[in-house]
Amino acid sequence: MKYKFISDNHTHSQHSFDGKDSVAMLAERALHLGLYSLTVTDHCDCQEYYKENVRKSIEDSVRDVMRAKGMYADRLRVYTGIELGQPTQDMKAAKEALSLGDYDFVLGSLHNLRGEQDFYFLEYDQESSLRLIERYFDELLELARCDCFDSLAHLTYPFRYINAHPEINADVMQFAPQLDAVLETIIKNGKALEVNTSGLRQAIGKTLPDENVVRRFRELGGKYVTIGSDAHRWSDIGAGIEDGLNMLLKCGFTHFTVYSKREPVMLPVI
Ligand SMILES: [Zn+2]
Ligand SMILES: [Zn+2]
Repeated sequence: MKYKFISDNHTHSQHSFDGKDSVAMLAERALHLGLYSLTVTDHCDCQEYYKENVRKSIEDSVRDVMRAKGMYADRLRVYTGIELGQPTQDMKAAKEALSLGDYDFVLGSLHNLRGEQDFYFLEYDQESSLRLIERYFDELLELARCDCFDSLAHLTYPFRYINAHPEINADVMQFAPQLDAVLETIIKNGKALEVNTSGLRQAIGKTLPDENVVRRFRELGGKYVTIGSDAHRWSDIGAGIEDGLNMLLKCGFTHFTVYSKREPVMLPVI
């Protein structure tokens, strides 16, 4: 399969607390792979925004991405993005963070419930997992209703950790009504759904969300889908994007979306 426009629209540089490499290294890798575009989406976890150095990291990210835009102008489209984590937990912080750059693209994420740690750090058993997933969908619906992002990132994020426990029975389709409510809300609000390919590199072994959810998004009338590796180091740039595009085709999508100046640009999958 030959894809015309391979784009990675979810990547982290050293300006994310868990990122490793410079924006220039990410761009060099994207160029080497022949990508059509690269969007750098460093973290802003909104409940942490007023902590030391968070704002400076965001400003540093924007500055380096603007520099890369200029440097690679004739060879690679470089877009300025941000991953807004938990914006509904501190809307003032979210608004301030969005004023720090002239953004092309904003991802909306939920990594932790109010008052809880990131799902990455939680302990899981059968009962607690189901309770946490219920709460996840409640808070995700709040996020979906918030008009502060372009694409809803890594829907099904807790399953990345819960499904690493084979003894726990938890499938997203057990939560079909809650899932539909989130998907219907982003569709109504003209937002995109992200296909995050990081799961292909992890124990869960599938994209976040997976094919069943993407198919459901389309059935409900979803139009905009973005795709990103969630790379936190240069060597993961572009990882799994072709698999993700292939999955989009299987779900009936002929186009995917990149964002320039917060406006959707539709690109053919093949
Ligand atoms: Zn994230
Ligand atoms: Zn991310």
